[in-house]
Amino acid sequence: TKWVYSFGDGAADGSASMKNLLGGKGANLAEMASLGLPVPPGLTITTEVCTYYYANGREYPAELNDQVEAAIAAIEKSVGAVFGDADNPLLVSVRSGARVSMPGMMDTVLNLGLNDETVEGLAANSENPRFAWDSYRRFIQMYSDVVLGVDHYHFEELIEIHKEEKGVDLDTDLDADDWKTLAHAFKAKTEEELGEPFPQDAREQLWGAITAVFGSWHIERAKVYRKLNNIPEEWGTAVNVQAMVFGNMGDTSATGVAFTRDPSTGENEYYGEYLINAQGEDVVAGIRTPQYLTKRARIAAENTAPSMEESMPEVFKQLADVFDKLEKHYRDMQDIEFTVQHGKLWMLQTRSGKRTAKAALKIAVEMAADGLIDEKTAVLRVEPAALDQLLHPTLDPDAPRDIYTRGLPASPGAASGFVVFDSDEAEIMAKDGKSVILCRVETSPEDIHGMHAAKGILTARGGMTSHAAVVARGMGRPCVSGAGQLRIDGKEGVMTCMGREVKEGDIITIDGSTGEVMVGEVKTLQPELSGDFAKLMGWADKYRTLKVRTNADTPNDTATAREFGAEGIGLCRTEHMFFEGERIIAVRQMILAEDLAGRKAALAKLLPMQRSDFEEIFKIMHGLPVTIRLLDPPLHEFMPREEDEFADVASAIGIDVAALKRRASDLHEFNPMLGHRGCRLGITYPEIYEMQARAIFEAAIAVVEETGDTVVPEIMIPLVATEKELAMLRERVDATAKAVFKEKGKKVDYLVGTMIELPRAALRAADIAKAADFFSFGTNDLTQTTIGISRDDAGRFLDEYVKKDIFAQDPFVSIDQEGVGELVKIGAERGRSTKADLKLGICGEHGGDPASVEFCHNVGLDYVSCSPFRVPIARLAAAQAAL
Ligand code: PEP
Ligand code: MG
Repeated sequence: TKWVYSFGDGAADGSASMKNLLGGKGANLAEMASLGLPVPPGLTITTEVCTYYYANGREYPAELNDQVEAAIAAIEKSVGAVFGDADNPLLVSVRSGARVSMPGMMDTVLNLGLNDETVEGLAANSENPRFAWDSYRRFIQMYSDVVLGVDHYHFEELIEIHKEEKGVDLDTDLDADDWKTLAHAFKAKTEEELGEPFPQDAREQLWGAITAVFGSWHIERAKVYRKLNNIPEEWGTAVNVQAMVFGNMGDTSATGVAFTRDPSTGENEYYGEYLINAQGEDVVAGIRTPQYLTKRARIAAENTAPSMEESMPEVFKQLADVFDKLEKHYRDMQDIEFTVQHGKLWMLQTRSGKRTAKAALKIAVEMAADGLIDEKTAVLRVEPAALDQLLHPTLDPDAPRDIYTRGLPASPGAASGFVVFDSDEAEIMAKDGKSVILCRVETSPEDIHGMHAAKGILTARGGMTSHAAVVARGMGRPCVSGAGQLRIDGKEGVMTCMGREVKEGDIITIDGSTGEVMVGEVKTLQPELSGDFAKLMGWADKYRTLKVRTNADTPNDTATAREFGAEGIGLCRTEHMFFEGERIIAVRQMILAEDLAGRKAALAKLLPMQRSDFEEIFKIMHGLPVTIRLLDPPLHEFMPREEDEFADVASAIGIDVAALKRRASDLHEFNPMLGHRGCRLGITYPEIYEMQARAIFEAAIAVVEETGDTVVPEIMIPLVATEKELAMLRERVDATAKAVFKEKGKKVDYLVGTMIELPRAALRAADIAKAADFFSFGTNDLTQTTIGISRDDAGRFLDEYVKKDIFAQDPFVSIDQEGVGELVKIGAERGRSTKADLKLGICGEHGGDPASVEFCHNVGLDYVSCSPFRVPIARLAAAQAAL
C-alpha cells in the first residue's frame, strides 16, 4: 500500500482531487507543485494511516517507516540539506490536514530537526546566529506545547524573567546569546515538567510530531468540532511534512496571507497582509501589526507602512501571477499562505476562501460572466441561507456597539428606534414619523398593528415559531425573540437586563440576524438588490423544478412577495384579517352571539370586508394561484385581555361586562392548540366557513369581471384529521359556490384542499385525498403534534436539546426529516396513491429553510410556501436541490 505521497520540484504523486486521502492541505500542496508553482518539497502521510493507526491499537503499518524515509531522502536531495545533519541540517514543518480544515486539532510544529548540534549548523549556514537560536527556542516552545503538552506560558514566563534581568522591554532587544541561554532554559523547563530530556534526535522528534497529529484526531476539542460540523470520525487526518522556508531571515524575507479577491466585498482585487522578517505564526498571533499587500489598499486605509507591492515589487509581481494562475486553475477565489525567503517566493497553502454573502454573490456572477464557471456552478456557489444577509438592512460592521442582551435571531435585519412597550403607542409614534422598536414579553394577534408600525420587534419569551417570530418574518420586520434575561415591565415603562434599565423612549438597536440587542443607535446599511442578485436568481429559476409560493395575508406582504419572485400564495391566513381596524368588533360580536341568528348578523358585517381583502390579493397576484385558509385559531384569541378593554368591547357590542367576561371564560381552554380550532370550528359553526367561502367566490368573480384575469381560488381547510371532516366541509363549500354562481350568473374554477398537520391526517392521506384537490403540509403543527412539543413553549428547553445533540437542529426551523419528514413522505405517497395528480405543497415555516426545501424537492412536492423575505432563499435552495 502507498501510505506516503511526495510533492515538490514541479511534480507530485497526488492531486487536488485526492482530498479524501491527502486531506485538503496535502491535496492542494500536491496540486500547486504539479502546476509548477514554488512549493517547498514535502510529503503527505495519508488519512488511511490515521484510520489504520486507530484500528490497530495505535500501531503504524509496517511499510510506513521506509516510505517516510524514502520521501525524506527526496526532500533532502531537492533542498541540498540532510535531516539531522550537524553541518547542513534540513528543517521541516509538521502540520495536520483533514479533508476540511478543523480548528481545534493540533495544527503546526515549525523548525523541526533542530537540536544542540544542528542549531550550530543553521547558525553557520545562515550566517545569522541570532536567527538560528531564536528558531531553536521557538521549536522547543512549540514542540513542548503541541507535542509534549507543556503549556507555553512556562516559556513566556522565562522570556519575561530574562528580559527583566537584562533590563530590556522587547523581544527584538534580545541577541543570539540571550536566545541561546533561553533555549537551554526551555529545554531544562521541559525536562523538569516531564521528567525526561527534550528529544535531541531529529527522527524521534519527527515521529513524536506525527503521532501527536494522529493523536489530536481524538482530543476533546476536535471531537466537539466534528460533532458540530457533522464531520465523520472515519475520515481521519493526514500529516504534512514539508521543508522549512524562513520568512524571518532578515529584511528581504517576509510572510503573509492573502485572498485572490476581497472576501468581504467580492471586488476583484487582491487582498491580504504581510510582515517583513517574520514567521507564519506572527501574522496570525497579532503580536505585530501586519502591513497591506497592495498599494491601493494601503492608500484607501490611509496607512503609511509600505505595502508589499511597494517594498518588494518584484516578489509581489510573482505573487500576483500565482494568484491569477490559481484562480484560473481552481475556478474559485483562493485563500493563500506564502513566505518569502531571501527574496524568493514560496507557496505554503491554498484553499477556496471563505466569504460574505455579498462577496459570494458578486464572485459567482463575475466568474460566470468571465466564463471561468458556468451558470449552474454559479448557482451552487452561493449559500441560500446567506441571502438573508442581503435582503435586509444590516449593521455597519465598523460601527461601535454597546450590547445589552441577546435572544434568538428570529427574523433577520437590523433596526434602531425608540423603545415602546405597547402596540397602540407604537402605532401612534410611527404615525408621527418616529422609528420604534416594539418590546413585549410576547406578542399576540392583537399586536399586529403595533408590529407593523414598528421598525423591529423584541420579545422576552417565545421561540423561532412563536407568534412574534412568524409574524415578523412574514412582514419582513427584524425580530429578536426569547431574550430570556430580559425583564419587561410594560406598565412601568421599563425593561431590565442584569440590573441595567432601559426606559420607554430610550433608543435601542436590534439585529434579528444574530439576536443581539444594543443600547443606542448603531448605524445600519441598506440592502442592495442589485444586478448581480437578479442575475443569479434568474439562473436559479432556470434550473429549479419546485415552485415557490409565499405565505401572505395582507396586500402589502403579497406585493413584497411578488417582487421577490413568489409564484403564488401558498397560505393566506384569514384570521390575521380579522384584527384589522374596526373588524375586531364584528368578530367579537360573532363569537359572543348567543345564537345562530346573532352569529349570522355579525358575519354579514364581516363578509364585505373579507371580500374586499380577497379582491385586492387576487388583483396583485394576476392569475397566479392563491390558497386561502379558512379560519384556524381558537376563538378566545379574539377576546379582549386587559381590564379596560372589556368595558370598551362590552359597550361597542351592547352587552354588559359581566356577560362578556362569562363568555370569555367559557371560551377558555386548557390546551387551545389541541382544542376547538381549525376545521373543528367549521364543523360546529358552519356559517363561519360559509361566509368565508362566499367572500372568496364573490371576490373571484368580481376580479375576473374587472380585470379579465383567470382566478382559480384554492380553498384550504385546516387541521383535518379524518376524511369525514373534509368531506362534510367540502360539501358546504361546494354548495356555497353553487349558490354564488347562480346569483351572479357566472362561474369560476376552484379547488378545495386540506392542510396535513396532524399525524392521523398523514397516515390516512389515501382516504382524505378522496375529498381533496390538494394537500398543503402544515409542518408547524405537524411538528408540534408529531414530536409532542408546543410551538409556543419549546423555547425553554429546545436550546438544551440542540446543545446536547438530541436534535441536530431546532425542529421548528429545519424539518425533522426522520420523524416529521417521514409523515410528510407517507402523506405524499398515500395521497397520490388515490389521486396521482394531487397537488402537494408545504406552508409551514420550513418552506423557507434550505435543508427543508431540498427535502421537499426529494419527496416530490410541487411547491414550497414561505414568508415573503425568504422567497429568494427558497428559489435558490430549490435550484441547488435540482442540480
Ligand atoms: C402550520 O401549522 O404549519 C401552518 C402553516 O399553520 P399555522 O402556522 O398557521 O398553524
Ligand atoms: Mg397550523
